[in-house]
Amino acid sequence: MFIKRLVLILLFILAPIAALASSDAAHPVSPEQALQMLSEGNLRFALGQPAHPNTSFSRRLLTTTDGQAPFATVIACSDSRVPVEILFDQGVGDLFVIKVAGNVADTDEIGSAEYGVDHLGTPVLMVLGHTYCGAVTAVTTGAEVHGSIPKLVDNIVPAVEKAKHEHPGAEQAELINAAIEANVWQAVDDIMTKSHAIAERAAAGKVVVVGAIYDILTGKVRIIERAGAATAAAHAAPAAHAAPEAHAEAAATEKETPAHGDKAPAEKHAEPAKAEKKAEPAKAEEHAAPAAAKDAAHEEKAAAHAEEGSSGGGFGFFSFIIFVLLLIGAVFILDKKVLNPEDK
Ligand SMILES: [Zn+2]
Repeated sequence: MFIKRLVLILLFILAPIAALASSDAAHPVSPEQALQMLSEGNLRFALGQPAHPNTSFSRRLLTTTDGQAPFATVIACSDSRVPVEILFDQGVGDLFVIKVAGNVADTDEIGSAEYGVDHLGTPVLMVLGHTYCGAVTAVTTGAEVHGSIPKLVDNIVPAVEKAKHEHPGAEQAELINAAIEANVWQAVDDIMTKSHAIAERAAAGKVVVVGAIYDILTGKVRIIERAGAATAAAHAAPAAHAAPEAHAEAAATEKETPAHGDKAPAEKHAEPAKAEKKAEPAKAEEHAAPAAAKDAAHEEKAAAHAEEGSSGGGFGFFSFIIFVLLLIGAVFILDKKVLNPEDK
């Protein structure tokens, strides 16, 4: 009787410890790692060598019992030629995707982005435009739109006006491409000015906000840089530069490496006009921030992610319940067969 109780007490002390230990194993993906995963996945897709990761039953089971922990939030166009998980060669539970015609960021899209970035803690927020975007083309060419579409595309109008202003006399195709890029930055600006939660996380280096263009023909995603973007602010989020070597593979095929996106959006968007004026040479961005700052940012991110992993309630809780039920079963069997075999 005494041994049985001792076993019971020990098991119930060990169960929560085991559950806690398992929740610590939740993967804290850094912004650099997340960008690297996107870059590598896109490379596999573009080369026609997709790995189709995380599509098995076990993945579905894991993300059901433990909850979702996507590593990137992506706002992309609804265009059927822009299948986000496929073009990044990702699977179930990997990406938090917001699809809307013209990849605009209005209230619902910003709210969804906040869910991905602030609630789920994705270390990357990407606004993904694409070549041959019908929505941007319609606004650029002044096509007539009906129903609810005017209210949708009004978010694109400022981007088109900006492109026309910056490219006077440009041919239509060139103008559309410029508008597609400007429209990506328009969405980024809309998010950063209207979402304090995302702006704060960006300023703290907990999320890297990047703009990108997907080429529907080549299948490649290109991280874009804002022309004349201020670079002093980039130092506020040094983590984006922390692992340049990690992009070697992608850099071989792409001129711009993913980590060189919109490094410090919060600063830029706080004073966009001022930022534009600074217009330092792009290479100024190469000034690496002090190693200590990088480490601090890394630690902070890791801690934040670990914190979210547990507060998200995903990992741990169901595992814990299953573990306890199994233990109770084991104790029962032990009790019947081993400790008191004569009780029948
Ligand atoms: Zn589109």
